[in-house]
Amino acid sequence: MSEKLPVIPLKNVVMFPGIVLPLLIGRPKSIKALEEAMNGSKKVVLLAQKDENTDDPSIDDLYDIGVQGEVIQIFRAPDGTVRIVIEAKTRVKATVSDNGDYLEAEYEELAEVEGDPTRTEALVKAAVARFEEYARLSGRIPVEVVAGIGGLDSPGKIADMIAANMFISYQEKQKILEILTIPERLEHVLQLLLREIEVLKLSQEIEETVRERMEKNQREYILREQLKAIQEELGEKDERTIEIEQYKKRIAESGMPDDALKKAEEELDRLQRMPPYSAELAVIRTYLDWLLSLPWNIRTDDEDDIDAVKEKLDKSHYGLEEAKERIVEFIATKKLSKLPKAPILCLVGPPGVGKTSLAKAIATALNRKLVRVSLGGIRDEAEIRGHRRTYVGAMPGRIIQGIRQAGTKNPVFVLDEIDKLSSDFMGDPSAALLEALDPEQNYAFQDHYLEVAFDLSEVFFVTTANNLYSIPPALLDRMEVIRLPGYTEDEKLHIAKQFILPKLYEQSGISANEVTFSDQAILKIIREYTREAGVRNLERNLLNILRKMAVEKLESNISHSRVSVKNVEEYLGIPKFHYGKSLEKPEIGVVTGLAWTEFGGETMLIECQVVKGKGQLILTGSLGQTLKESAMAALTYVRSRAKDLGIDEDFYKKYDIHIHAPEGAIPKDGPSAGITIATAMVSALKKQPVPNDLAMTGEITITGKVLAIGGVKEKVLAAHRIGLNRVILPKDNKVNMEEISDEVKRKVKFYFVDTVDQVVDIVFGKNS
Ligand code: ADP
Repeated sequence: MSEKLPVIPLKNVVMFPGIVLPLLIGRPKSIKALEEAMNGSKKVVLLAQKDENTDDPSIDDLYDIGVQGEVIQIFRAPDGTVRIVIEAKTRVKATVSDNGDYLEAEYEELAEVEGDPTRTEALVKAAVARFEEYARLSGRIPVEVVAGIGGLDSPGKIADMIAANMFISYQEKQKILEILTIPERLEHVLQLLLREIEVLKLSQEIEETVRERMEKNQREYILREQLKAIQEELGEKDERTIEIEQYKKRIAESGMPDDALKKAEEELDRLQRMPPYSAELAVIRTYLDWLLSLPWNIRTDDEDDIDAVKEKLDKSHYGLEEAKERIVEFIATKKLSKLPKAPILCLVGPPGVGKTSLAKAIATALNRKLVRVSLGGIRDEAEIRGHRRTYVGAMPGRIIQGIRQAGTKNPVFVLDEIDKLSSDFMGDPSAALLEALDPEQNYAFQDHYLEVAFDLSEVFFVTTANNLYSIPPALLDRMEVIRLPGYTEDEKLHIAKQFILPKLYEQSGISANEVTFSDQAILKIIREYTREAGVRNLERNLLNILRKMAVEKLESNISHSRVSVKNVEEYLGIPKFHYGKSLEKPEIGVVTGLAWTEFGGETMLIECQVVKGKGQLILTGSLGQTLKESAMAALTYVRSRAKDLGIDEDFYKKYDIHIHAPEGAIPKDGPSAGITIATAMVSALKKQPVPNDLAMTGEITITGKVLAIGGVKEKVLAAHRIGLNRVILPKDNKVNMEEISDEVKRKVKFYFVDTVDQVVDIVFGKNS
């Protein structure tokens, strides 16, 4: 070991043997160490700090490998700091100690290890060449330094000098200092050079592309500015300016309320600032176009002459007094107050009873525009209220689309099939619809796409549905329900003559003078070619005949023809239905029941057959759970009355009872087939036929009571439609008789019962 020398810790610097460096000494301990050196041999040990941020390093904070050096010059500044120039001499391994005033160290010189000379030579060449490249790329290393390194003859020194001149961290330099085997040190230096060269090249490339891009943008910008200047000079405008001006004009003329106006202006501002090729441009334009296409302030003037409206409605539709009354009331209240709330009508009834055409007639009579939107199968709330604009391909919902289509803010807006809305995980469309319909909220209807409110309060909403059961109750609450149950034969005849035929004459290009229909012919079509609550098929059949007539007229110059009962079949083929009875003759075990379905009232046959067996109750055909329960109740009733009914009391042990509902009118109202099933069972067990001019409906209990049922009006119409002239109904349904037209009451005999015994009496005769 050597003598002890003062230690000067180095911050952020590593010295290599042979390097001469100026250093600033400021820390008191270092100054003390320096003074001690200056008093003696001027020699010091220079050790790098492991952490450059340590201010008063202790023994452990210093690397133990450093250099031994000598102070060549010293300058003292008035503020006490000292500047020295120092030359590093040899690599040393130091053992540091603290004498209280400063750090001092004993040291041991480290000898270099030669290694393979050929390898060393090759590495020297490569390192020098790479260093030249590195110096060139970095542009910060003076040429003399590069030349100086080339002139050195010791490979170890070359490695040290290159390392000393590279812009790398002091930790990396320390590592090089610590490698004693020369080729290894050279190799490490070479690796660092290659890495740094790569980094420099890469950053140069990046710089290059950035600069190119900036130049291109700059160029485009300048060109565009020049173009603008030229266009201005020539009195021309560029496309964007023209577009913006047009939008400004349209916004000013749109009649939008303030918040929409603000929104439109904001969007226009964004449009103006958007770079020319941004994809966002199209999105903004579409949005602005939507905003501007809405009839914010456009309305038609309502016809407010009550008589004129009434006349128009009567002209287009027969009957439907309730609906017509509501409309007339609306106009009357409108005369009294400036802003009456339009009623929300809900027209409920089977297909073809005139729901849609009545809505159309309302629009025409009131002088309003008409839009129709079908709600059938909509399950996504966004279909009603639109998608938010962040969604790709977003659009407003159907309400706003309808308003745009109408082009006015007060159209008659028909929402078809409101009973077919469904709700699932996509949200609840009925909630959105409620907002559109509710007069408390709809003056500010929120569409997700639009983002600003639209006033729907002047819209006249008409909804249509086949049945009331599946309309969400909250919606049903807001609407005035008007039921259109279907027409009687007489009404259909009237509608055909007064309304449908005149319309069809016009459509088919045949005049009423050329073709006439006898009433009997029309009735035959109603009875034998259609079986419907409405008049849609009737209309279709009449149109068919007229089309065929038109062809005939062209072919054979006949000036007048008359459609009568005799020649209807020539045009329409053989009749599809047997009128008068649902059965040709009375049969054992077959009874006509009445059911209520989406398509109005329907007749349905219930069959019962008794076969030898073990008392099983077999149910087939379109019999649902409720009908099964009715059948079991009926069976219990029959067993309890077997003796009185003249039936073998043990029948249920010996026979299987099979009940079947052929061809399927599927009733929606559950248990109303109870008495029909019981009657079929009794008939089958007694082997006594059931009259075929009779229909019945009523719920049954196991004790043989008959309970009230729904849809009386529709069911009675169905019986009447196929020409049955007797109907058995529950006594509690007598209240519904006021809904039944006089025409039907004249033609049909009604029986009201509260026990099944009474049904049996009517069907099979007393004491039978
Ligand atoms: P829905 O919408 O109830 O299915 P539509 O409105 O389509 O029925 O009516 C079918 C056809 O029957 C239409 O051509 C309509 O003009 C006619 N119609 C229905 N009811 C009447 C009526 N009360 N008076 C005149 N025509 C009617």
